[in-house]
Amino acid sequence: MNRYIFFSGGVCSSLGKGLAATSLANLLESHQLRVQMIKIDPYLNVDAGTMSPYQHGEVYVTEDGFETDLDLGNYARFTNAPVTRANSITTGQIYQHVIEKERQGRYLGRTVQIIPHITDEIKRRIFAVGKQPDTDVTIIEIGGTVGDIESVPYLEAARQMISDLGRDRVLFIHLTLIPEVGGGEYKTKPTQHSVMKLREIGIQPDILICRSPVMLTADLISKIALFTNVERRAVISGHDVSRTIYELPLIYREQNLDSLVLNRLDLSAGTGDLTEWSRIVDICSNAEAQVTIGMVGKYIHLPDTYKSICEALQHGGIANRAKVNLKQIDSEELEDLSEEQFIQELSQVEGILIPGGFGSRGTKGMIKAAEFARVHQVPCLGICLGMQIMVIEFARNVLGWQDADSTEFKAETRHPVISLLEEQQSTTHMGGTMRLGASPSHLKQGSRIAQAYGAVTVMERHRHRYEFSSQYTDQFIEAGLVLSGFTPDEALVESVEWKDHPWGVGVQFHPEFTSTPRKPHPLFSSFIAASMAGKENSHAAG
Ligand code: GLN
Repeated sequence: MNRYIFFSGGVCSSLGKGLAATSLANLLESHQLRVQMIKIDPYLNVDAGTMSPYQHGEVYVTEDGFETDLDLGNYARFTNAPVTRANSITTGQIYQHVIEKERQGRYLGRTVQIIPHITDEIKRRIFAVGKQPDTDVTIIEIGGTVGDIESVPYLEAARQMISDLGRDRVLFIHLTLIPEVGGGEYKTKPTQHSVMKLREIGIQPDILICRSPVMLTADLISKIALFTNVERRAVISGHDVSRTIYELPLIYREQNLDSLVLNRLDLSAGTGDLTEWSRIVDICSNAEAQVTIGMVGKYIHLPDTYKSICEALQHGGIANRAKVNLKQIDSEELEDLSEEQFIQELSQVEGILIPGGFGSRGTKGMIKAAEFARVHQVPCLGICLGMQIMVIEFARNVLGWQDADSTEFKAETRHPVISLLEEQQSTTHMGGTMRLGASPSHLKQGSRIAQAYGAVTVMERHRHRYEFSSQYTDQFIEAGLVLSGFTPDEALVESVEWKDHPWGVGVQFHPEFTSTPRKPHPLFSSFIAASMAGKENSHAAG
């Protein structure tokens, strides 16, 4: 019988609810349970695709081409749970569906209301995931903070599910903050109040996870338990981890969070083996070697914009037993540096990564960085926009087409080396109309990328509108740009690489979305290995 665990957040946002939820899922999987995750985003956008990275960080793309919140990336990295469009619910989707059904007359004359019609639709979507035959437990993360007007219908749906299915099938976990005030005093009052807020709508949480900079003392735990009516052993300390976020499941295990959940939901425990996971944490904290990668992008000041890339770089480090130091380089700032400052800035890194992005701002700096990497034989990985930048740079500096550009940045150019396909030119809607989701690419035998993958057919996820312009294929190849990957019909270029260069690969897709600490993505592993080798060579030469 399927079980459901709701995760809500209190006091303030950004406490790491997604990480807490996925860490619990990781522990449940260690007991051989099959877990599904659902992220609820209470905003009116239908998906995260049209949102600026300044609003919500990275847009994570699922295999089936849905643009979602970055928490789905956390789920994919910590668990084996499937992450598809069904695992992402937004208020926009719910209302769109209910209103469409109303227009079709399918409510048979009834007044359509938040309760029961919106709440029923929420439950229907949760059950559609939770009732799949190979699911034991479904964890539902309700975005936002308790007390927000937007999350009320979701909490109401959760409350109904608790009474519909019973306490032994539905569990409610609330994540709060225990802030520190002057002189190292920790305060429980905001937690008490946010639990009161939940009780007002009829939900008594079963478990509290309390975020705090340090481990909660026994006294604090007793106080929280007393005022919130939650058992002492169910008040879990969610203190900051010092080494890596991958440590979180281990911290919860120490406090028996998994046995508590199994007990409450009447589930039998499996082996609970965390050996492999502990090994990963160990490598992260005791890496023998170090390597510095420079990421040259334009949203660099926001920590979450390139979340999956940052994680994938760490995974590449795990594969090579190395610690990856990330140097975030603002491509716009690069544009204003003198030649000397520019060289000094980029000489501090052993590999350069140019990530995805939209719009022309900052691209000049990226093009300069790509040129530096190509000329100075620095390993370079270009992802999506990064690949397009590598193509533009090559066209300008090797083929000598000074005006080469992407039509995204300059509509009228004599050498539009990156341009829109016909079907993209005619779209009127921005949401969900890019080339999205996983599709196959064929890689050229013997190419650097095929070597990295150890395969010639790969499936990778896309999220872009613009493409390499095929009319220039011959000129590029003659000048030494290897077109190493194509769509199966050979119509679209999927990857390029620099000939006579230690490691310069650009990919039109996003390998970062499928990298996990247990299975580092081969492109990232290979890129990190090349960057480490380059470092050794330069030391040997020096
Ligand atoms: N802006 C480019 C395009 O639409 C690249 C997109 C990306 O990097 N994800 O093709």
